[in-house]
Formats: sequence, C-alpha cells, structure tokens
Amino acid sequence: MEKTKKPNSFANFLKQNLALVIIIACAIAVCAIVMIINGNKTVPTDVKGGTDTGIYDPIIPNQPQTKKYIAPVAGYTIGMDYSRDSEFVLVFKKTLNEYSVHNGIDFIAQAGAEVVAVNDGTVTAVNNNFGMGYCVEITHEDGTISRYCSLGEEVCVVLGQDVEAGDKIGTVSTTASDELLEGDHLHFEMLRDGEFINPHSIIEEL
Ligand SMILES: [Zn+2]
Repeated sequence: MEKTKKPNSFANFLKQNLALVIIIACAIAVCAIVMIINGNKTVPTDVKGGTDTGIYDPIIPNQPQTKKYIAPVAGYTIGMDYSRDSEFVLVFKKTLNEYSVHNGIDFIAQAGAEVVAVNDGTVTAVNNNFGMGYCVEITHEDGTISRYCSLGEEVCVVLGQDVEAGDKIGTVSTTASDELLEGDHLHFEMLRDGEFINPHSIIEEL
C-alpha cells in the first residue's frame, strides 16, 4: 500500500507547491544563465593586454611603491626606547628626574654623526624647539611623518625641500635640553594620522 502511495503523495506535493517549484526552477535557470555568461567572459588566451574595446585590460595600480625605511643613524646604541604602546610602560628620564612616556627612540651616537632621512619625502618643518633642540620633520609618500630632534645647529635641509632615503639632514648633538643627560643622541619619532607610532614596527633593521 505504501509503495503506491508514494508517487501520489509526490504528485500531490507538486500540485500543492506549484508556485514554489516554479520559483526554484527559475532560480536554477537564472544561475545557469549567469554561469554560462561568466564562463564566456573569461579572457581569450590569445588576447594580450589590449583589445579594441579595452574591456579585458588588466587594472594596473598607479600608486607609488614606497621604499623600505632605513635607520636614521649608523653606528648607534639605543638609549631611551619607544614607550608609548598600549601598556604605556614609562621610562625614567634622568634629565627631568621623572617617569613618563617616550614618544620615540633615542639613538646614542658620537657627536657630529650623520643623521639621514629614513625614506623619500618632503621637509615639512625645521625649527629650534625649546626642550627638544633643533628638529626636522619629513612627510613621506605614504603619509608617515618622521621627526628628528636634538640635531646640531647646522641643519642641512630647508622647509619644502624634497629628500631621498639616506640624504643627510643634520648631525647628532645635545641640543635637546630635556634630554641633556642622555648625551649626544638623535631623538627620533614617527607619526601616522597624528598619532605616535613605534618606529620598530616600520623600520625593520632596528
Ligand atoms: Zn628622546
């Protein structure tokens, strides 16, 4: 009895759900059509780069390739390190006799050692900052800003000047009175979108 009932119940099901069955069939048909159209769109293997229509031209990104960031000083030891991560680990600043955040890295080097641009960019500030001495700021192609402080008086670049990675911008000195007891050093900061960032995360060789 059950064997004969099954076809009937299936036929009844079709009758009762005719609309649903039609919708499913249409959906399958649409999917099949889309797949066929997409299949036809695949680029013919004999077309290289350009056709009359240009439809199949590959999209070539037009953004400048940013160079690798380099260290701003050669032959250094790191004094006070960057300490502004989420943990906010404070460093002791012996000149100011206090614990506080340190927005950058102090590169201890010999007085007069060359300080160079860490990447290509444009000089967007040159000043003598009370507390941080002679400072240069460079804005790079990717929007990152590098800031060099405690430079010697003879800064080698001027506002608006374009520089390349490795170009000399100044020398290591003790002009940052806030960090006088660190000795001759470069106080080096990096910023993105107005926020200090850890230079170790950008400059691989550090
Ligand atoms: Zn410093």
